[in-house]
Amino acid sequence: MRLVLASNNKKKIVEMRRILCEVAPGAEILSLSDIGFSGDIVEDGATFRENAVIKASVPAGLGYIGIADDSGICVDALGGRPGVYSARYSGGGDAENNEKLLRELRDVSDGERGAHYACAIACVFPEKYGIPPVVAEGECHGRILREYHGDGGFGYDPLFYREEEGCTFGELSPEDKDKVSHRGIALRKFAELISPILKEIEEK
Ligand code: IMP
Repeated sequence: MRLVLASNNKKKIVEMRRILCEVAPGAEILSLSDIGFSGDIVEDGATFRENAVIKASVPAGLGYIGIADDSGICVDALGGRPGVYSARYSGGGDAENNEKLLRELRDVSDGERGAHYACAIACVFPEKYGIPPVVAEGECHGRILREYHGDGGFGYDPLFYREEEGCTFGELSPEDKDKVSHRGIALRKFAELISPILKEIEEK
């Protein structure tokens, strides 16, 4: 069986590959470039779920089982922004995104700086299988600090503080982040949902 990951993010591909190797041991895991797709995917969904399905539908439209994720951070005091726009929040990279977030929250009190990360992972099947899309979601709650702590992780991690661990995501090891993160939660749920479906397809 061939599974196509619709992502250009190398870190995500490594993470997803690890999980998929466990749930579908014999599967060949390909990227979009492996199947000759080099176009842009317009992520214009209103939710993480919609965007994950949009991305996973690209390989499915070409006859492959497609898998994709979408994620971001939702800040309470900003009415859930930047949400699906997290990667493009400032128009720059991670550093600019974090600076913009600090600026926007400058006058927000410590008690009102709640935020959560969210992640949706979708599998979309080619029409011939007659299987509807499978989507798993995960959330991880914390709050936004006023200064950076730690240089691990990526994106908003040095500002995202978790009461439970007593530190930011930027200070956690990848393994510890995985245990509680939105992506870790979604991936584990996804593995459970997708495993019997892939087995059934393989046995046919
Ligand atoms: P995506 O690649 O479209 O899913 O964009 C995800 C964006 O959300 C990233 O570029 C980060 O800005 C943010 N994000 C999502 N998950 C995380 C995380 O685990 N840590 C830090 N930032 C994250």
